[in-house]
Amino acid sequence: MTKYLQKCKNCNKYGLQNPGSKCRYCGGMLMNPRPPKFSLIDKYGKYRLEYFKEDFDKKFK
Ligand SMILES: [Zn+2]
Repeated sequence: MTKYLQKCKNCNKYGLQNPGSKCRYCGGMLMNPRPPKFSLIDKYGKYRLEYFKEDFDKKFK
């Protein structure tokens, strides 16, 4: 799934690629963060995603 992540040009948050390439947080433009050779970034992205999930669970349970 991480290969569909794109980074927002405005707020620097990661979002899922979507047809309009719009950030769901601020409506800014989503871009591909880096070419595939920077695979370390994907690892961090995954870590962040899990962190957010935990945070989300805490807030809404
Ligand atoms: Zn944004």
